[in-house]
Amino acid sequence: MKLSLQNNQARYLYLEPYTFSVVAGDDVLIYNSLNRKILEYRRSPAIAEIIRKAEDAGEGFLSNIETGSNLNELNALINDLRENFSGDIVTFPPDKKPSVVRPKPLIKNYPPAKDFPSFSADDYLRNIYFFLNQDDNQICKEYRHAMKQFVCPVYDSEGYKEMKVETVIDNCSPYSGISGLALDLSGSDLTKYTAISELLPWLRNLSLPVTFHIPLPCSDQETIWRLLRVPRSRVSLYITLPGGIQAVKEIRSHTDFIKRSNRLGFNFLIRSMNEYQAITELSGPASREKIFILPYFDGENSGFFKENVFLTKDDILNLKPNQQQVYSRSLINEQLYGRLFIKTGGEAFANLNHDTIGNINDNSISDLVRNELYKGKSWHLTRMKVKPCSDCLYRLFCPPVGNYELFMNRFNFCDVL
Ligand code: SF4
Repeated sequence: MKLSLQNNQARYLYLEPYTFSVVAGDDVLIYNSLNRKILEYRRSPAIAEIIRKAEDAGEGFLSNIETGSNLNELNALINDLRENFSGDIVTFPPDKKPSVVRPKPLIKNYPPAKDFPSFSADDYLRNIYFFLNQDDNQICKEYRHAMKQFVCPVYDSEGYKEMKVETVIDNCSPYSGISGLALDLSGSDLTKYTAISELLPWLRNLSLPVTFHIPLPCSDQETIWRLLRVPRSRVSLYITLPGGIQAVKEIRSHTDFIKRSNRLGFNFLIRSMNEYQAITELSGPASREKIFILPYFDGENSGFFKENVFLTKDDILNLKPNQQQVYSRSLINEQLYGRLFIKTGGEAFANLNHDTIGNINDNSISDLVRNELYKGKSWHLTRMKVKPCSDCLYRLFCPPVGNYELFMNRFNFCDVL
């Protein structure tokens, strides 16, 4: 059906409540989150103007189609919207206007007022990472940026240092008010942590699930099996090359391996295709451990990194988030939200690429959570807050800003802008 503007009726274009649109200059993208159809219009000022108005609460989410409008472009838009169940035109007498509702995400009491009576850190936290030790050994030097790229251990410093075991115990005991979250214990090499024997009995009585993060090779592989005897524990190993390959072979040949391999994760840190080839020699009989390959940016391998981490426009458009994902990504960073990191000296971070939000020796975990909610940069870092994504037509589709991007201070890991 073609649009005609010859009688006295007013015509309004509206978008369906489950659609999302982005207007960037004269370019427009409309996304139907139910049937995942995408409409894209380039260099079309008329369509850009119409969609801007259809998203404007002040216009009642209606775009009045006036005489003199570019009918060819509009007919194409309206046909597309109808075919994709994404919007339509309604006709009304000139003195009347239909009412249209466009849902927007709104969370009550968020962030909570400072005197909000039922504030509980548990409501916002998912994981607390404690870095129990830090070192200046070879692995720490070679992979010292790893913890900023994928929350891996390895922590370079001037000499060997440790966190006091009381720092973990006091802040995560059942009396600290923290429950229902996951505890992550990390560091330069946890198997060297001198208070491990003191920590393990306490962990066995704790109801929190705990993951130990350990780089391989490590100084004492037997400790890995001791850690796995803690109920609900997992061990995430970060394999650095070349020494890690032999360490993996030893772990796989251990008598406990078959029994406990389902609670082991192997993360291979890869800096080049040669290193990737080297780990393929490890493939053997199927076992139940989880395997991940983590490209590591060492400052000199940008070609390898680009090839293996960057997304193409097609990759991005195929991500097709649902309505709930689009809403939550407009308010928070789903990947970074709810994590706290405590370094050996007690400095706390919501993300290790951002400034500290306090020190756990002076602040409670609730204080740190409040600091991030009110003043922090990490948990609410959406694509709308970084360039060039804030001007990009495809920003609805991209996954949340991640650690690689923060570490490299570059937010377009794509071939789009
Ligand atoms: S510029 Fe940003 S929002 Fe646009 S496609 Fe690239 S990463 Fe996504």
